Amino acid sequence: MSDRRVRVRFAPSPTGALHIGGVRTCLYNYLFAKKHGGDLLLRIEDTDSTRFVPGAEEYIIESFKWLGIKFDEGVGIGGDHAPYRQSERRDIYRKYVDILLKSGNAYIAFDTPEELEKLRAEIPNFQYDAKTRSMGKNSLTMSEDEVKAKIAAGEKYVVRAKVEPNEDIVIDDMVRGKVTINSNVLDDKVLYKSADDLPTYHLANIVDDHLMEVTHVIRGEEWLPSAPLHVLLYRYFGWQDTMPRFAHLPLLLKPVGNGKLSKRDGDKLGFPVFPLRWVDPKTNEVSSGYRESGYLPEAVVNFLALLGWNPGLDRDLFTVEELTELFDLGHVSKSGARFDYEKAKWFNHEYIIKKSDAEVAAMYKPLLKEKGYEIADATLERIVGMVKTRISFVADLWEETNFFFEAPTEYDEKSIKKRWKEESPALMAELGKILEGISDFTSANMEKIVMDWIEKNGHNTGTVMNSFRITIIGAARGPHMFDIIEILGKEETLRRLNAALAVIK
Ligand code: GLU
Repeated sequence: MSDRRVRVRFAPSPTGALHIGGVRTCLYNYLFAKKHGGDLLLRIEDTDSTRFVPGAEEYIIESFKWLGIKFDEGVGIGGDHAPYRQSERRDIYRKYVDILLKSGNAYIAFDTPEELEKLRAEIPNFQYDAKTRSMGKNSLTMSEDEVKAKIAAGEKYVVRAKVEPNEDIVIDDMVRGKVTINSNVLDDKVLYKSADDLPTYHLANIVDDHLMEVTHVIRGEEWLPSAPLHVLLYRYFGWQDTMPRFAHLPLLLKPVGNGKLSKRDGDKLGFPVFPLRWVDPKTNEVSSGYRESGYLPEAVVNFLALLGWNPGLDRDLFTVEELTELFDLGHVSKSGARFDYEKAKWFNHEYIIKKSDAEVAAMYKPLLKEKGYEIADATLERIVGMVKTRISFVADLWEETNFFFEAPTEYDEKSIKKRWKEESPALMAELGKILEGISDFTSANMEKIVMDWIEKNGHNTGTVMNSFRITIIGAARGPHMFDIIEILGKEETLRRLNAALAVIK
């Protein structure tokens, strides 16, 4: 690597909710920047006004805030290269359009959409390039005076890159190795449109990467076809020496079948493809987000980091610090990364376990409050500690702990069929008497007394404990029984036991 300070950028276009693949792109930029002690920039590429969606920029910023991915410069932060919103950089781009026109690396074209349509209809596989540009209405086929006159008359025009034919353009990609593309397949891409006095993506992207001193362009594979033109533009401007290195990341593939992971896959299989919930401002269509679905940001970061890259160790759980330390573009896979939603859930499960009981209890508290329950923090922490390993999401806690808050109103038939024996009513009646006599109503003490009683009388432990579970919880499920009844307390335990005995036949 050269001695230039590493500077990378995430450069989304605000065209809607940010797809999870875009989140991964930004994460890889972040890890790369941190690893090399460099900077991560947030640049908003909003030069295509027809695709602009209100709220998208705010959504992007909030997503990364939630994920803990911090930018060093950019929209919402500022920095030496402000503004970072391309629509605010018009004046800058105009100058570079002129440079290309003067050097002859670009030309002006007046062809209307209808005229282009006609050419497409007449010529198979038409593209505007070295072979066909002579058929167009452009500054290469018209006199200078004609061109000037048209512009003076306010005719709309575009500026196109003049791509010379028969050249092998080599992209030295940090993920894919050397990729060679012949310039014959490229068209004379539009770089600027007079209609809105704005450059297109290609020109703005290159000019900004240069001016913002970007050293590495890490982006999705879908941008690889643009790279040859970008290489040419660097040459046209004479910026080869500081041209960023490219790294094109593999696609995120559908969980099953071929092709790119889409929102439809998420809808069909029931998982989010966006970091946060998104309401489309035009259609009001709601898309679910990882945050609202109960994911911990650390879990999402860990999960995404391993979609397309692997540090080659035999474990999957890594802190951001570890990911940063280990990250290496050379080990990003060339082939697409299959999206595995079960794995995402597994990560969340693991990250919940990693959290302290107090942290998980604090996340659970608002949910409980919504249901109308408030209990002492210490008790809630103990409850959470008993079942934390059984859940994937904080919301799953209700299913695992509802019996602490609500006495059973019915008794699970399956459990009764399997576990409630002929002797159960008598056993439970006796157990009730024993519990009533215990003054130290703590888990270990009760366990000892009850187990002694079972042993002395030759009762079946399974029958006693499962019948007991059914009376207290309503089904043969849940964590350690004596821990449960310690929290419920003697009075409530006996109340439930007697209520069950009156009902279960
Ligand atoms: N604006 C492009 C996007 O929406 C940026 C591509 C790039 O990183 O060069 O992803």
